[in-house]
Amino acid sequence: MVEPLPSLEDQLPEGYMPSALMRILNRAGARPILSAEASDLGLAENLPFPFLALVGQLEMRTALLLSVINPAVGGVLLIGPRGTGKTTAVRSLGSILPDVEVSTCPEGCLPEDFERDGAAGVCAECADKLARGIPITRLESVKLIELPLNARIEDVVGGINERIAVQQQRVRLERGILARADQNLLYIDEVNLLEDPIADAILDASSAGSYTVRRGAMSGTYRSRFVLPTVRGLS
Ligand SMILES: [Zn+2]
Repeated sequence: MVEPLPSLEDQLPEGYMPSALMRILNRAGARPILSAEASDLGLAENLPFPFLALVGQLEMRTALLLSVINPAVGGVLLIGPRGTGKTTAVRSLGSILPDVEVSTCPEGCLPEDFERDGAAGVCAECADKLARGIPITRLESVKLIELPLNARIEDVVGGINERIAVQQQRVRLERGILARADQNLLYIDEVNLLEDPIADAILDASSAGSYTVRRGAMSGTYRSRFVLPTVRGLS
């Protein structure tokens, strides 16, 4: 039986508040894995290999870190043979990032929309919540949004919600994967297999930080500020 490692926060002198960096180190370091029950080891879905415990691949790790520090880097393309840690590094990258403020609304309303345009800038539900002092965002850890290779352009940029259109006889624009990737990591595996129109849409949204969808008389503009790690295997 291995003694669980004491958390960094438990070793602080009395009266000290843990810093944001310390919380990240506790969450993203090797501690959670080393302290886990042996039966849990090997379940990659539950405990991704910690980014901070990766050894070697200095250029890959530096490139990924630079891409999250400065979004102007515009993404990272990792190319290499199988088993060199490309996917492992990308999957654990989110755990070393601070939490982000995300909208709780399906239409993605944010307090800054309200500050800029007043009640017209947000949906009716959010305007009502804000008037009653209920927050419309919450803090969440950065997620890895994976782009499925069979995604259609409607899935990527968003479009008319077909289920609501059929069931409720009304038309509503729905956010796509790009909007859901806002403030998160948009991960593309085997990027070389992606269709050109989809790759173009992703690169345009990534460089502009937002994009607009028009379907008939309706249009919607969505934020899409994301870090873009992509992986291409060597065969
Ligand atoms: Zn809303």
